[in-house]
Amino acid sequence: MGWGSWAPVMREPRGPVKAVLIDLDDTIFDHALTCRAAIAAVRRTRPFLRSRPLDELWKEYQRRLNEIQPDVLSGRLTGDQARTARWQRLARSCGERLTESAARELSQEYRRKYLERRRAVPGAVELVRDLHRSYPVVVVTNNEVEEQEEKLRFLGVDDAIDALVVSEAVGVAKPDPRIFELALARAGVPADRAAMIGDSWENDVLGALGVGIRPVWFNRFREPRPDPIPVAEIRSFGPADRVVPLLARAPLPTLPARAVGPAPRQL
Ligand SMILES: [Mg+2]
Repeated sequence: MGWGSWAPVMREPRGPVKAVLIDLDDTIFDHALTCRAAIAAVRRTRPFLRSRPLDELWKEYQRRLNEIQPDVLSGRLTGDQARTARWQRLARSCGERLTESAARELSQEYRRKYLERRRAVPGAVELVRDLHRSYPVVVVTNNEVEEQEEKLRFLGVDDAIDALVVSEAVGVAKPDPRIFELALARAGVPADRAAMIGDSWENDVLGALGVGIRPVWFNRFREPRPDPIPVAEIRSFGPADRVVPLLARAPLPTLPARAVGPAPRQL
């Protein structure tokens, strides 16, 4: 994004954190490694997928997912149509032209294997339960309502969530400030009394900062920091007594005006 030598203005929050907002995909629910395990499984049944190393294919799949996701969020494609298109493009990248029905069949096989392999991000379920004992916990997520509700039930944390704010239901997606404002209203706290934990720099970190929420960047794959913005970072979840002090100490830098309200992007 090119922040150059921008020096942040640090705001002093008016008080301690009183509510926690948290992302779902790749923060609580382990989409990335479930996806990798499912790709490894379908790769064993489709020789053309073995023309590329697993990790390369997995990264390519993530890229295709992000490429198509805006069409799902806007309602132009259903989840099933998007999955078919994604596998058609992925097969093409392996030199294989799949008909729509063959791509659909492959996407359904992938989907079955994905569902069989679903898991939580290590430590996330325990963290949500611990946080829920002390704070209102609001999940803020970009996706379809039914799918996200089902994930929370599957993980067994639906009873530890005070509210679920999903882009499909509210009509705007992270990092649009409006979805965070709705989440704050559900939590019943002003922006500077909330913390937002999430893995996406664009959607969760910049999105939260855009409305004055303290972000905590969940960076489990140890990616380089995209911008030199001094926000709190955590690379793995542990007991709440390790995470809670981090929430309280999380800095709240003010973004330059150009960063406020960035255009909606993918998951
Ligand atoms: Mg995420």
